Amino acid sequence: MRAEKDGSEGTGETVGYDDERPVRRDQAVREAVEQGLLGPDDPIVALLDVTGIRESAAELRSAFEAVTPPGTRVLHAFAVKATPLVPVLRLLREEGIGAEVASPGELALARAAGVEPERTVLDSPAKTPAELREALALGIAVNADNPQELARIDALVGSGVPRSPLGLRVNPQVGAGSIEALSTATATSKFGVALRDEGAREWVVRAYLERPWLTRLHAHTGSQGVALELMARGVAQTYALAEEINRRAGRRQVDTVDIGGGLPVNFASDATRPTYAEYARVLRETVPGLFDGRYGLVTEFGRSLLAKHGTVVARVEYAKSAGGRAVAVTHAGVQVATRTVYAPGAWPLRIAAYDAKGRPKEGPAVVQDVAGPACFAGDLLAREQSLPLLEQGDYAAALDAGAYYFAHHYAYNSLPRPAVYGFVPDGRGGVAFALVRRAQTTQEIVRESGGDHPDALVQGLRP
Ligand SMILES: *Cc1c(COP(=O)(O)O)cnc(C)c1O
Repeated sequence: MRAEKDGSEGTGETVGYDDERPVRRDQAVREAVEQGLLGPDDPIVALLDVTGIRESAAELRSAFEAVTPPGTRVLHAFAVKATPLVPVLRLLREEGIGAEVASPGELALARAAGVEPERTVLDSPAKTPAELREALALGIAVNADNPQELARIDALVGSGVPRSPLGLRVNPQVGAGSIEALSTATATSKFGVALRDEGAREWVVRAYLERPWLTRLHAHTGSQGVALELMARGVAQTYALAEEINRRAGRRQVDTVDIGGGLPVNFASDATRPTYAEYARVLRETVPGLFDGRYGLVTEFGRSLLAKHGTVVARVEYAKSAGGRAVAVTHAGVQVATRTVYAPGAWPLRIAAYDAKGRPKEGPAVVQDVAGPACFAGDLLAREQSLPLLEQGDYAAALDAGAYYFAHHYAYNSLPRPAVYGFVPDGRGGVAFALVRRAQTTQEIVRESGGDHPDALVQGLRP
């Protein structure tokens, strides 16, 4: 990764641009075709750039090391929902990254990957008593979302001292970003205790004073479409509250602030923008007290760790023309790019064109639609993108799809989950692949669709 000035925007901000990432991606697509992972019988595959994932993890660690005194406790917990794949969680664990989980399924994935309880954080707005009991028994950190949940935790803790670090999630209500559905810090967001509501702040402070074991404070205010300054303002509000609690407690009761995740990702080019280093610098400038060594930190980044390292590659089954528009009908659509298909304005994806041998396609740019396989008209991976004309047998690749895309299968039309492979350059000019997740089989689809009890409704319900 090299750092460069981004002259185009004139803001003087530093952007990261990994020269090697597009090269590795092109190599992987070509080798996937050559090695038969992709072809007429396997028309869609997802690829993860293991080198890139390791680099992003290292950038995250060093960004926060650069703004904290030596010895500061910092836990980076990957938001499992971004890429819920066990081998990915294990890879990140090896890179010193823990797990932020928000359901029994995500906790099970983190445990299957070997992520230690002390490196696991449970957040979720709807934890059941059983989930809370399990987390407390394991010693996993829990951030309570609301007063009713805190009452459940009270009952579980009783008069004892919990093993788990426990905190409360607050919503600093600093305002929305550009994508309403992803803005977690609006006045009416469903998450956490809304800090600016009447009486809420005082309630929070008292909740801490009454519970000496509440030692953490949590906010997650960023997401795609939220500016760094707005995110930092949310963290500043959370820090100010921690200071107030500690002042009134007369001791350092809150010892750790969990600042959440939410760093946006640039989907428009191969540049990594903003970088972790940039966000860490903005944070330290905005909230210096949080970085003077008095507080431990937890982060919960998801999208920014994985997005740029995943590619979905799909074969062009048919190439046609409709109303003068070129349309490539591929095998990647709503089942692997649900957000893009249903909200194309908010979630545009870049498409790269490859020929039948998996080589970058040459030729003049043609405005075309890249369609998916699902049976509704809106199933378009890209609308009116300018690319070399995709022809039958070519491949279309959706870029920056490593988070919240192919790992979030949507079972429309009973389309199968595609296989996922991780790859690294093999050092001899080729590419080595490792299976992360098998493709779903037709038999599995039948079984998961009630295929084991076809008579349930005609026999089971006979009066
Ligand atoms: C979704 C989520 C994250 C991760 O968000 P990204 O935008 O993927 O970084 C972190 N913390 C909480 C509580 C979340 O809900």
